[in-house]
Amino acid sequence: MNHSHLMDRVDLPVDRIPTRWYNVMPDLPRLPEKYLDNATGRPVTKEYMERLFSKAMAAQESSLERWITIPEPVRDAYRMWRPTPLIRAVALERELGTPAQIWFKYEATSPSGSHKLNSALAQAYYAKRDGHTKLVTDTGAGQWGTALALACRLMGLDLLVFMVRASYHQKPYRRHLMETYGAEVRPSPGDSTEFGRKLLAENPHHPGSEATAVSEAIECVYDDPGARLAVGAFSNHCLLHHTVIGQEVREQLKEVGRSPDYLIASVGCGSNLGGFAFPFLEDKLNGADIDIVAAEPDACAPLTRGEYRLDFADAGGRGPGVYTYTLGHDFVPPPIHAGGLRYHGCAPQVGLIRHEGLLDAVAYPQTEVFEAGTLFARTQGYLPAPETNHAIRAVIDKAEECKRTGRDATIVFCYSGHGLLDLEAYGRFNAGALRDVEEEDFVTPGPEVTAS
Ligand SMILES: *Cc1c(COP(=O)(O)O)cnc(C)c1O
Repeated sequence: MNHSHLMDRVDLPVDRIPTRWYNVMPDLPRLPEKYLDNATGRPVTKEYMERLFSKAMAAQESSLERWITIPEPVRDAYRMWRPTPLIRAVALERELGTPAQIWFKYEATSPSGSHKLNSALAQAYYAKRDGHTKLVTDTGAGQWGTALALACRLMGLDLLVFMVRASYHQKPYRRHLMETYGAEVRPSPGDSTEFGRKLLAENPHHPGSEATAVSEAIECVYDDPGARLAVGAFSNHCLLHHTVIGQEVREQLKEVGRSPDYLIASVGCGSNLGGFAFPFLEDKLNGADIDIVAAEPDACAPLTRGEYRLDFADAGGRGPGVYTYTLGHDFVPPPIHAGGLRYHGCAPQVGLIRHEGLLDAVAYPQTEVFEAGTLFARTQGYLPAPETNHAIRAVIDKAEECKRTGRDATIVFCYSGHGLLDLEAYGRFNAGALRDVEEEDFVTPGPEVTAS
């Protein structure tokens, strides 16, 4: 066997950073249901959206324009790390003995270590331009908070981050990084908000979740006229900003003369999946045989085990009511190391394509995803984030299926972030101490939301 190379890669020159974001909205089989104002039960108004988000984000959220020009200061900031390479995992293919080609879009070259900076820079830029002084946000393990802390620093805005309490205490490294960039970080639940105090009164050991953190963030936004909410996933505008990923992948695959059979991404809320796969959705709708696959944690799997219905986006029902796949807004995900995947629902656009039969979903227990990530590190050298390991598990399963059927498929996945700040989790896995969480132990079905 020829071991002369471990990988191939396709790099694009800096002038091929996309100039526009691709808005999937007009190409969806139907429009998503409108967000509902929980106070009135009616669709949210422009005023509601502009009080919560910056003006530009409120507009992008419901825009039906297919292409949206990337403002020059944002595109300029993208030059810090974009275009990102598309890399062929030759050594992993050999290890698996698969006839399939495995390619990954390496989003971990961003200064914050994950794809999240694509949207963080856009949201910080627009908030500044629209005259706001401060952004408030929620973060799980800290990937989004880190990206937004850097973006706010670069664009000249203050940032307050509510970080899931379990991570705040157990995984302080990203908190230190956010503070280094200049953000203020508070644990959620915490005693600075009414909602946080209520949760702590009920359970002083409440571990928090993305959903509790966003409720606290929204409360702070309503208390401060200069502040607006920034969200790291979920929203249409956030998925829009990440479409630079998929647009680049299209160009890169063209250069090597391949078209994708499988597009695979981990899903916490769906921002890396949306940004990676939406630019291919039109091909799929026009008949291209592309399987889009979402990889979720077994412990928190809205696409595999949730219901498509109206629910709150946040635990306290302070934000809008939204139609999507959900496990219930009061579902508290168990502590797994892929903190970025611990969210009860998924982005409405991702929920919609799942509901319309355009998206497959698979769920894996934690030990299986760390096995996959370890194999990847041992063959390709890169250490993936625990979130990314979910995608890699699905990739390995598909590649092994191709081995059985002799299919030389093109499998492409989104390498959403590196795992260099997640070494404690790898340490536990290496020591044999990492466990899966059993579903029966933690499922708490959420109540129906009545929209009246
Ligand atoms: C946040 C995060 C995810 C999951 O979030 P999505 O919105 O589903 O993309 C996946 N991987 C990494 C590295 C992340 O930081």
